[in-house]
Amino acid sequence: MKNISNISLSGKKVLIRVDFNVPLDENFNITDDSRIQAALPTIKKVIADGGKAIIMSHLGRPKNGFEERFSLKHTVKHLSDLLEKTVQFSSDCIGENTTTDIEKMEDGDVLVLENLRFYSEEKAGDNDFTKQIASLGDVYVNDAFGTAHRAHASTAIIADYFPDNKYFGHLLSNEISSLEKALDKPERPFTAIIGGAKITGKIDVITSLFDKVDNLIIGGGMAYTFAKSMGGNIGNSLVEDEKVELAKSLIADAKTKGVQLLLPSDSVNADDFNNNATIQNSAITNVPNGYMGLDIGSESITRFSNAILESKTIVWNGPMGVFEMENFSNGTKKIGEAICEATKNGAFSLVGGGDSVAAVKQFGFADKVSYISTGGGAMLEYLEGKQLPGVVAIQK
Ligand code: AMP
Repeated sequence: MKNISNISLSGKKVLIRVDFNVPLDENFNITDDSRIQAALPTIKKVIADGGKAIIMSHLGRPKNGFEERFSLKHTVKHLSDLLEKTVQFSSDCIGENTTTDIEKMEDGDVLVLENLRFYSEEKAGDNDFTKQIASLGDVYVNDAFGTAHRAHASTAIIADYFPDNKYFGHLLSNEISSLEKALDKPERPFTAIIGGAKITGKIDVITSLFDKVDNLIIGGGMAYTFAKSMGGNIGNSLVEDEKVELAKSLIADAKTKGVQLLLPSDSVNADDFNNNATIQNSAITNVPNGYMGLDIGSESITRFSNAILESKTIVWNGPMGVFEMENFSNGTKKIGEAICEATKNGAFSLVGGGDSVAAVKQFGFADKVSYISTGGGAMLEYLEGKQLPGVVAIQK
């Protein structure tokens, strides 16, 4: 892997594409700095080598041009605090002023450029724009896994301008090796746990995982479409009627491919989508009318946990229930506990996807799993077996 570890960046202008797409409150304070923290090892490497770290990123979804709430200047003070050194800011990401800001940099300095997506050319992968950002550096480093599945100017196309000087940063290298470890050379049994609201968006992941895993556990809202496909009564639970036939054929595919498909057998139901609703438990195929299933039941937890505890490789994407509400968080919590226990016993566990990462943090499991991926969409596309443009651009 073309990683920055073994090269010296001394005296070089190093253009680093990071993912500083962090949540900000109404006063522009960062409410979760995980993505900035994740990029620190690469930035520190450039500083330690005596290179000039030029940081590029996007933030939010600006429509067209500058918007105060999406300015990357809001990240500068926090980055300075984390690095314990003054970080400069350039109020543009191309043009004369930015070039001048870079000329003023000394070796070991750090400069954050303004939001790349203030130019629609960034997402369009415009050639002229790409050329302009490429002209700012001697070396290109991609450390943004969150956007690795996008063929944008700064995430993929720019790499063509650095045929001999393009590298993965530490974060992106770790992301790729963790995914490779899980998917390309898994120790068996290999169990994937897929949850979340809907089957839509995860069909390709499920289909692709059938070729790789020994066990596939399905939980969350999507389980009720499977229950309906088996002829069950699911009351008011979340259902995708147009996916019922697909669910049926996925159950058949699992059999053909020799994958053990573990669907919930019981369900925790509520008479309203509300933490204080009246709760009752039933078989997942027998949810009473007027009730909706919001979590997996205790029998499902035991069955799923047993499979997880026997596994040597575990991939988890998506919660088992509406974990944001305390009364429906038990399934997600217990499955998380089983993953931590399996990890303690030597399994390799990889967690990804915004909601599962939020759950892992909420329940205090973050340092008890092997790896937490920083990219939900990028991880899903990797699980689907797709090539990520940001990764291919460095490898080719
Ligand atoms: P996704 O973005 O598809 O991964 O879905 C995550 C969301 O699914 C979370 O906000 C959960 O609250 C929600 N979810 C999980 N289980 C259920 C369920 N049984 N019914 C409705 N929503 C659910």
